[in-house]
Amino acid sequence: MDSRASELPCRDDAAHDRTETLDPRDWASVAALAYRIVDDCVGYLEHVRDRPVWQPMPEHVEALFRTPLPHGPTAIEEVYGLVRDNVLPYPMGNVHPRFWSWYMGAGNFTGALADFLAAVQGSNLGGGSHAAALVDQQVVGWLRDMVGFPASASGTLVSGGSMANLVGLTVARNSMAGADLREDGLAVLDRPLRFYASDQVHSCHRKAVETLGLGNKALRRIRTDAAYRLDVSAVRDAVAEDRERGFKPACLIGTAGTVNSGAVDDLAALADLAEEQGLWFHVDGCIGALLAIAPQNAWRVRGIERADSVALDPHKWLHAPFEIGCALVKDRAKHRQSFAVSPEYLQGTSRGIASGEWLHEFGLQTSRGFGALKVWMALKEHGVAKFGRLIDQNVAQATILAHLVRAHPLLELLAEPEINIVCFRFAGAGHNEDDIKRINIEIMLRLQEAGLAAVSDTTLGGRHCLRAAICNHRTRVEDLEQFVGDVVRIGREFSGA
Ligand SMILES: *Cc1c(COP(=O)(O)O)cnc(C)c1O
Repeated sequence: MDSRASELPCRDDAAHDRTETLDPRDWASVAALAYRIVDDCVGYLEHVRDRPVWQPMPEHVEALFRTPLPHGPTAIEEVYGLVRDNVLPYPMGNVHPRFWSWYMGAGNFTGALADFLAAVQGSNLGGGSHAAALVDQQVVGWLRDMVGFPASASGTLVSGGSMANLVGLTVARNSMAGADLREDGLAVLDRPLRFYASDQVHSCHRKAVETLGLGNKALRRIRTDAAYRLDVSAVRDAVAEDRERGFKPACLIGTAGTVNSGAVDDLAALADLAEEQGLWFHVDGCIGALLAIAPQNAWRVRGIERADSVALDPHKWLHAPFEIGCALVKDRAKHRQSFAVSPEYLQGTSRGIASGEWLHEFGLQTSRGFGALKVWMALKEHGVAKFGRLIDQNVAQATILAHLVRAHPLLELLAEPEINIVCFRFAGAGHNEDDIKRINIEIMLRLQEAGLAAVSDTTLGGRHCLRAAICNHRTRVEDLEQFVGDVVRIGREFSGA
């Protein structure tokens, strides 16, 4: 035996015992805890309807989250107890059947199991040859099929819609500049780029053009019509005006489902215009791209398949637990050209782990989580047809809510819902706009504080209103009826109407 080898510390049994790891000493006891957690979680979702949508946190709970960095250990059973008692009872609320604030999905248990499984396997979706990478690419392919993009299109899963839009707009900017922006930067452009979207466009596009160095002013907000859809002829005028003034019109952003009111731009008309004007056509489909899988509503997004890039959000209408978004790009080469770099420490090989595709060449992240699995498992379990029906169900529920609002003399409907977003307000006679705003904000807050329902508010055409976005597979018609009753009761109590 080599005498030097026996001197290595790792060959010493006592030292081997002292080697630290994060693995438990006793796997059986963590298994018992894990089973308990699963039981608690099943109960949590099974009885979600019986709990408040949201509740304020008592001081002792808030205090827990101000405790300093833990230096020493705490038994995992105790750590879980802290989560069970102080985190789980105080959710944002979007898994509840009466949560309709802003715009988010309601999650699903299969997706939660998938997140657990993905974390156990722990794979990194930077790329390579392993099953998670194939699942990731298969999910991208399924989402691509859902919006009618060809098999040659590419895509990448990202954290959400904001990042998906940033990816799409980056490829748009780089592809339309007529210069090598990656190498030379915006300074080489003699004509500044201009992007066009409706005045209802989501705020993430502003962040995107700012991040891309174009500046907020490069994103022209074009007026919308009475239904809050982008006015196509106004875009044409703006493009002509910009050409005249020495700008380079580059990208037209259509919105399939605005965040304010759910308006779906006329995507086919925008595709025509983009073609006519030589613009990149990007669709923000974070809300509505997936209408394409809903039998009764797919017609609303006709033309989306003609886009150059689409951003969509499986954590909205596919109810994947946060977070997962997707950017699709029709021209795979342009997509890759916008992000690919091959540093010496990320070289591919013809065999082994690095023989798969480098997925980081299609986005900004190098490391990326295995979020695809939650979409994959839920789609396998239910089939895409069911998700389509759930989307139709939410749109039908919005029509019912609008009907309930219209039928009540103290309520005012601000716009006919086009898809699943209902804008309305409590508006008893004799109140001015300021009073109405004050009353409706109070209704919104009392609903939240009592845990009855969660809606948000917005201002539509200069008028403040409550806004219910029904992206929720747990909502039933009785929830909407109860909600309308609560709004009227609280409005009356507060305003004396
Ligand atoms: C939600 C949303 C976004 C942003 O998506 P995140 O997933 O929240 O980052 C962008 N555009 C529209 C229209 C949206 O509804």
